[in-house]
Amino acid sequence: MPERELVIVGGGPAGLTAGLYAARARLDVVLLEQMSPGGQVLNTHLVENWPGEVDGVGGYDLAQRMKDHAVKFGLPIETAEVTGLRVEGERKVVLTSGGEIAAKAVILCLGARPRKLGIPGEEEYTGRGVSYCGTCDGPFYRGQVVACFGGGDTAAEEANFLTKFADKVYLVHRRDQLRASGVLAERVLANDKIEVLWSHLPLEIKGGQQGVEAVRLKDLKAEREYELPVGGAFVFVGTEPNTECVRGVVDTDSRGFILTDRDQQTSIPGVFAAGDCCAKLLRQIVTAAGEGATAAFAAQRYLEEQA
Ligand code: NAP
Repeated sequence: MPERELVIVGGGPAGLTAGLYAARARLDVVLLEQMSPGGQVLNTHLVENWPGEVDGVGGYDLAQRMKDHAVKFGLPIETAEVTGLRVEGERKVVLTSGGEIAAKAVILCLGARPRKLGIPGEEEYTGRGVSYCGTCDGPFYRGQVVACFGGGDTAAEEANFLTKFADKVYLVHRRDQLRASGVLAERVLANDKIEVLWSHLPLEIKGGQQGVEAVRLKDLKAEREYELPVGGAFVFVGTEPNTECVRGVVDTDSRGFILTDRDQQTSIPGVFAAGDCCAKLLRQIVTAAGEGATAAFAAQRYLEEQA
């Protein structure tokens, strides 16, 4: 079985930053990623809050540059799906689709994925009018009417982005106040192409041969249910962590987000976690990168103490 000092699992901003720091520290490290490095940033049209990028930076470009930066300092990136983690005393064994890799330390940067609504029609019409990514699918809705579900930063950002293509965007939110932060919320409210349906619950997504045709909604204040004709339904109701492969190994909160201390160490000494898979206050690219750097430094210190 191959053995490394440090295995980083996941190639989003947290993993790539951990990889950059570990490579610069000259650790014997490998980063495992199941798809293309970049994580959820790849699905972001424009990142406007990466410090120093005054005019914003494309999500794909930023991810690519993070990867190039880490690779420039010697980080090896391998394609593998991680399916589990076994702890054998101080030795950790990372289980992957391509076999097992032993490590003295591990950094879990498993990321998160969009949460589903769990309503009738959602599963059936996914890829046929139901989408979780405006950046990916927005251009298919040129001149159409679409619905977006959610009231957080993602829903606000994506609803605004979708108005580049759609003639009208209904933002369907279950309360009468957006969760989205200042600038993003202001843009929603100032956008003539967006109509917010306050205090509305999504009940069902309906369609036919061609895909989505309508969404059935409940107006909580008027206490009535009705159908809204739309050509697409975009779901932005939060995220859930990709932590199934380590459940029961490291401690998580009730929703599966990994618990860490302030050095990003999990409940297992030598196993660290960073980025959106962690239980924390703020899920941003900048916090993921910061946690990745901390995790790499803490892992380096752990390895020195074990030597
Ligand atoms: P979020 O902040 O958890 O918001 C989820 C939204 O969906 C909330 O408005 C919530 O309503 C609603 N919701 C949840 N379950 C629902 C259901 N079953 N039916 C209807 N509505 C439901 O998730 P997010 O917007 O994806 O953001 C995730 C994290 O990424 C956040 O930390 C966010 O700040 C960050 N992010 C940042 C940026 C940026 O800085 N540019 C961009 C995107 C995301 P309630 O409000 O009633 O709870």
